[in-house]
Amino acid sequence: MFDNLSEKLGGILDRLTGRGSLSEADVDAAMREIRRALLEADVALEVVRSFTDKVREQAVGATVVKSVKPGQMVVKIVNDELIAMLGSDSQAIDLNAVAPVPIMMVGLQGSGKTTTTAKLARRMTSRDKRKVLMASLDVYRPAAMEQLAVLGRDLSIDTLPIVAGQKPPDIARRAMEAGRLGGYDVVLLDTAGRTTLDEDMMTEAAEIKAAANPHEVLLVADSLTGQDAVNLARAFDERVGLTGIVLTRIDGDGRGGAALSMRAVTGKPIKLMGTGEKTDALEDFHPSRIAGRILGMGDVVSLVEKAASTLDAEKAAAAVEKMRKGKFDLADMREQLEQMTKMGGIGGLMGMMPGISKMKNQIAAAGVDDKILKRQVAIIDSMTREERKNPDILKASRKKRIAAGAGIKVEDVNKLLKMHRNMADMMKAVGRGKGGPMAGLAQA
Ligand code: GDP
Repeated sequence: MFDNLSEKLGGILDRLTGRGSLSEADVDAAMREIRRALLEADVALEVVRSFTDKVREQAVGATVVKSVKPGQMVVKIVNDELIAMLGSDSQAIDLNAVAPVPIMMVGLQGSGKTTTTAKLARRMTSRDKRKVLMASLDVYRPAAMEQLAVLGRDLSIDTLPIVAGQKPPDIARRAMEAGRLGGYDVVLLDTAGRTTLDEDMMTEAAEIKAAANPHEVLLVADSLTGQDAVNLARAFDERVGLTGIVLTRIDGDGRGGAALSMRAVTGKPIKLMGTGEKTDALEDFHPSRIAGRILGMGDVVSLVEKAASTLDAEKAAAAVEKMRKGKFDLADMREQLEQMTKMGGIGGLMGMMPGISKMKNQIAAAGVDDKILKRQVAIIDSMTREERKNPDILKASRKKRIAAGAGIKVEDVNKLLKMHRNMADMMKAVGRGKGGPMAGLAQA
């Protein structure tokens, strides 16, 4: 999967990276090539369009970072947008519910549902140490029920005993009851598929969902079927509601477009991927790794990341200098808050500055918390330049205006100002120290 696309994108981006300068026309030409490559890889048109628009917009407006060539910057932007298109972070199966947690598998016949059910059961049993019960709800093909039973025996994982003549929703209820009585952590419901998207399948899936109230509804989709898989996902989501997608046959020789469009079209995360026929061939879906595999330009990406962090370090050094001089206004504070967010929040910042970890409690007392960093920035954004420079002029009427602008209460503005005073005092103290722990930041 992805080989063809990878080769094409690699070629286009390779030609860009060497360039010392890039005009808007160069970017446009590259975007046209990328667009063609994605369409040839069978990525959905709407996804291609939004992808190239976003990349273009950023490429044209990108901040120039010293020591990075414009072409390299574009590679980094393409990389980041590709990751965003694939869903940003890897998302695990959510087992946070009252046991037994019901997980329902849906999809077309032959998509790999039964195999994936066994793979998932195997991983939950051996890796996550959960007690798993598998149940086949496929009453149309007795062989399907037998297939799951055989897989269960091979893996020493329990399957719900087969009772002839029961309807799928009743089997689902029986499975949940057996799950409760048997002290299982998870009940995997392997539903029946059809060869094509049909109304009966959807109705039945909806009935099973109502009977078992599954915590996860996973669509198992064959990534080799291209756009059909995307349409299927959309239809299932509308009728039954999905919580995630499993893409099977990633080991196959497909063009990869379905894998690339699925998340963007449905908004549902791709949680897992099947990479072979064996029951251990199941992997988490990591957007950044997949993007890396497709672009094959990890070295350029890390170069740009490193250069960008040097830029951040330069900014931080300038901030340290200001602190030493005892100057720290609200604009500086805003800059610091943004830096903190970028560096992985308070935790990330502490990790980088050994000396400052002692101040953990002080920082906490100052009311600095990852969740409110963004809100604080919004409050500062509602101030005028004058106010940012001279917090002292902030009297009641100005505070009221700012609160209204940021959609918060006046007391929140007061809290921010108190935090600013605390930070300013703290920074002054740090700045006065010999070099001070913050100086480490300048060399980072
Ligand atoms: P179901 O009808 O949806 O339950 O599909 P099955 O689980 O019976 O799978 C159909 C076929 O696809 C079987 O031969 C599986 O071994 C194969 N299969 C399932 N997942 C994968 C995968 O990720 N990679 C490969 N290569 N084959 C798979």
